[in-house]
Amino acid sequence: MGSDDKCAICSEKIELRYSPMEEWSIEGSICGKCYSKKLSDHYPGEHARVNKQLD
Ligand SMILES: [Zn+2]
Repeated sequence: MGSDDKCAICSEKIELRYSPMEEWSIEGSICGKCYSKKLSDHYPGEHARVNKQLD
């Protein structure tokens, strides 16, 4: 609702909202694209599964 319909990273409108992991130090919600990118940034080489987190 309100301000968190924008991605905290790329500021684009979020269609599918993801909650960033605590260790990423990100406030707010992020889009799927940034979520995937963060996952591969933080866990290189691992095939982390992306959990869709809907409200
Ligand atoms: Zn984004």
